[in-house]
Amino acid sequence: MRMKRLFITKENLEILVKHLKKSCDEFIAPKKEHLDDIIFGDAKNDGKELLDYEGNSVISPRAFLLPQTEELFEIKSARNNRFVPIEDKKRRVFYGVRPCDIKAVGLMKSFFLDEFVDEFYQQKLENSIFIALACGKRCLSKSFCHTMGAGPVASDNFDLQLIPISRGYLMEAGSEKGKSILKKNKKLFAKANLKDEKEIKDRSRHFIEKDKEVNFRKLAKLIKEDKVRQEAWDDIGLRCVICSGCITLCPTCSCFSVMDRLNGDKGIRMRYCDGCPYAGFTKMAGGNIPQPQHKDHIRRFFEHKLNVDVERYQTPSCVGCSRCIQTCPGNISIRKFIDEVAGIK
Ligand code: SF4
Ligand code: SF4
Repeated sequence: MRMKRLFITKENLEILVKHLKKSCDEFIAPKKEHLDDIIFGDAKNDGKELLDYEGNSVISPRAFLLPQTEELFEIKSARNNRFVPIEDKKRRVFYGVRPCDIKAVGLMKSFFLDEFVDEFYQQKLENSIFIALACGKRCLSKSFCHTMGAGPVASDNFDLQLIPISRGYLMEAGSEKGKSILKKNKKLFAKANLKDEKEIKDRSRHFIEKDKEVNFRKLAKLIKEDKVRQEAWDDIGLRCVICSGCITLCPTCSCFSVMDRLNGDKGIRMRYCDGCPYAGFTKMAGGNIPQPQHKDHIRRFFEHKLNVDVERYQTPSCVGCSRCIQTCPGNISIRKFIDEVAGIK
């Protein structure tokens, strides 16, 4: 059973952060970078973390769990199949992760651990603590986290969650790891009161009022049964210039490929992020590409998030962060697509 939310002042939160930094190797937190962009980075030693911030980060914490390239094995001898795993044993605290990105962590966990267990990913997750930071207001006019069941407050997949209120923060534990942190630091907390909880409810109502409800099972069925207008698919397909911005920024994109970098008999086996827009993404060993037309490639991105994953996880694997919409040079919007197919005006 989840513990009751506790109250913490900003000053005590600063002390808690200091304690957490001592307990980890990397404190991955939001920082303000050039042009005031919010970027997640290691703040263990530079103290540049933002305790609270507006909006969301340009790149989600996915970049630390599934980087663009990652070394998996040292190849001692390719001829003799001698591989040694490259382990990542760093203890990380992910602080200030928005609820949409927390839901994405849960979806990625299902992808990497539910059936075939990816031990590299598993090790990173097991050594990580996730501290969510609920949203006070909508980060962008285009974001639609509430429609996707991903905000403004996280419902699961966090160890601890901070919810800003006018007099400080409420904090709740979502796991045993989180409970033990609260227990160890109990002197920093006080009881929350009913006024605090009411403030959170009132704020969430603002999100709910603005968002339309979408029946995702119905939407998935329409896509599966090929009932989406062909012009809608053609429209997004022809505007995609394969820049890969969407798949690079999306917090739930999990596709990767593997390659060996060899120097003689020795080398490194790496994984690198791969994705739907690329022509060679589904290329088979014999050279056949099941969807050879360029205009059908970005359709895979939409079908995967809104149909395949609804069947697999009973929820779409889009969390409504709007990063793909913000970055797309073709002005392709998954939100507009959802609204059109679901019949929302
Ligand atoms: S961001 Fe837009 S143009 Fe770039 S790959 Fe994605 S859909 Fe295509
Ligand atoms: S598909 Fe777009 S809006 Fe949805 S989670 Fe990915 S980047 Fe965010």
